[in-house]
Amino acid sequence: MPKDFLQGAQDAYDVVVIGSGLAGLTAANILARQGRSVLLLEQHYKLGGLATWFKRPGGHIFDVSLHGFPYGMVKSCRRYWSREIADSIVQLDGVRFDNPMFSLRTSFTREDFTQQLIEHFGVAEEKVVAFFDKARGMNFYDEQQMTTRELFDEFFPGREDVIRLLMEPITYANGSTLEDPAISYGIVFSNFMSKGVFTFQGGTDKLIQQMQAELVHNGVDIRINCDATAIHLRHGQVDAVEVDAKGGTRRIRCQAVVSNANLRQTIFELVGEEKFDGNFIDEARAVRLNNSSTQVYLALAPHDHLDVKELGDLLFSSTAPYFRTEALLSRDITSRTYSFYYPKTRPHREPRCLIVSSTNAQYGDWANLSAEEYAASKQDLCETTLDALDQYVPQIRQRVVHVEASTPRSFRHYTHHPAGASFGTKFEGLAVSRALPQQVTGLYHAGSVGIIMSGWLGAMNYGVIVANEVDNQLMTNSSRSTTGVERAVAEDMAKG
Ligand SMILES: Cc1cc2nc3c(=O)[nH]c(=O)nc-3n(C[C@H](O)[C@H](O)[C@H](O)COP(=O)(O)OP(=O)(O)OC[C@H]3O[C@@H](n4cnc5c(N)ncnc54)[C@H](O)[C@@H]3O)c2cc1C
Repeated sequence: MPKDFLQGAQDAYDVVVIGSGLAGLTAANILARQGRSVLLLEQHYKLGGLATWFKRPGGHIFDVSLHGFPYGMVKSCRRYWSREIADSIVQLDGVRFDNPMFSLRTSFTREDFTQQLIEHFGVAEEKVVAFFDKARGMNFYDEQQMTTRELFDEFFPGREDVIRLLMEPITYANGSTLEDPAISYGIVFSNFMSKGVFTFQGGTDKLIQQMQAELVHNGVDIRINCDATAIHLRHGQVDAVEVDAKGGTRRIRCQAVVSNANLRQTIFELVGEEKFDGNFIDEARAVRLNNSSTQVYLALAPHDHLDVKELGDLLFSSTAPYFRTEALLSRDITSRTYSFYYPKTRPHREPRCLIVSSTNAQYGDWANLSAEEYAASKQDLCETTLDALDQYVPQIRQRVVHVEASTPRSFRHYTHHPAGASFGTKFEGLAVSRALPQQVTGLYHAGSVGIIMSGWLGAMNYGVIVANEVDNQLMTNSSRSTTGVERAVAEDMAKG
């Protein structure tokens, strides 16, 4: 008999959270702290979604998305998780750029960037200050017509080098392009460009273990290997979630659902388009997925060391003469972002130096390869990355003891995101995600969406916003004579 991963679960909860990415985990934690009964469903055998890691023989632990996040994570983790989690957040030592236009090292703070723009790039101080102020002053309610390219043209006309410096890290952080609305750039850039770039000391495994302990402490019922296959409605409001728990299928009643699954999957697969009004579905259909990624994971022998002073923690490298979206996404890779992991990443373990090379990628370039072509393409990705890395880590081929690659197909496989989307959807997804509860009472989405709400901080903060909305809805429900669940249970009991 296959194991039933829902064994012992209740028949009804206040809220079912579908997916344990950072938004799902955070929403579940807040709702449980607010006294709600919460069931957290994860189709994979591990919590964390894209905030994940994997182990390989020889004691190597690779982090998939722990490359850097803004300082705001400290506050969010302290408030919505615990002081212990917040206390493990530390600043990266250094960020480097190396491309045909410039090579530099920066602390990635506003002060340092300002100085570099003035001294290295010869931009007038008033222009730099005005640009930072404009980016910082942007908010979601601003007009959304201006593109990021137009924003740059206003402040730095003809300065391809400046655009590259300001844009390359943000493109890497959330897949945004010069053609996206400037607002999505301004908000993310201002978040990063305050106090530098940060990481979680101890690794993603430690973070997720600590989060899991906190969820258990707050009473969340966590179920892995549980795939939500449908969200059922009754009289236009959320009624139950259908779950495939390997050992069988069950319907769990609830008053609200927070879906951390991809927005398009939530609307078109879990609920079904016939449940929404036509205009909304037209808007939902027009939502573009964000791009995906490839990564190459490399481990050095245990005794071999890299020098953080020389290499830094993050290196944005490119051989392309200019910064161009097509080049960043092309199968013919010219841009790689290297994360160097030193023993300081996991100080409690045996010292290890690891490297992860990441590049934005298109699912379509990988989707239809035969098994042989796919294996050969992955091998090629490993080989070309080793070639490219050699100029920064001499003799890397001789020094490396483990190499493997992931592709857009890997991301799709592990998270179920259509097309392996690494950063949810493009900008237009945010309005569609926000409008869900007006379409179906009790239906919410929280997760990477609209560029602004993507990345570790964006996803986590979106989980907070949505959890508070769910709590308000539940409060409204309970001020009525009977709640949805009570009513449903009463009806079932009446039916015997
Ligand atoms: C290669 C790469 C590098 C990145 N680097 C960084 C970085 O350095 N800094 C940064 O801030 N961000 C980074 N990101 C982005 C960041 O990891 C994500 O934006 C964030 O973790 C997404 O969180 P989320 O809440 O949207 O959910 P996701 O992580 O997308 O998780 C969704 C979860 O829902 C589950 N699920 C889906 N459907 C179902 C279903 N039907 N039933 C049950 N469960 C379901 C999935 O299995 C998954 O666990 C990176 C992403 C990638 C891919």
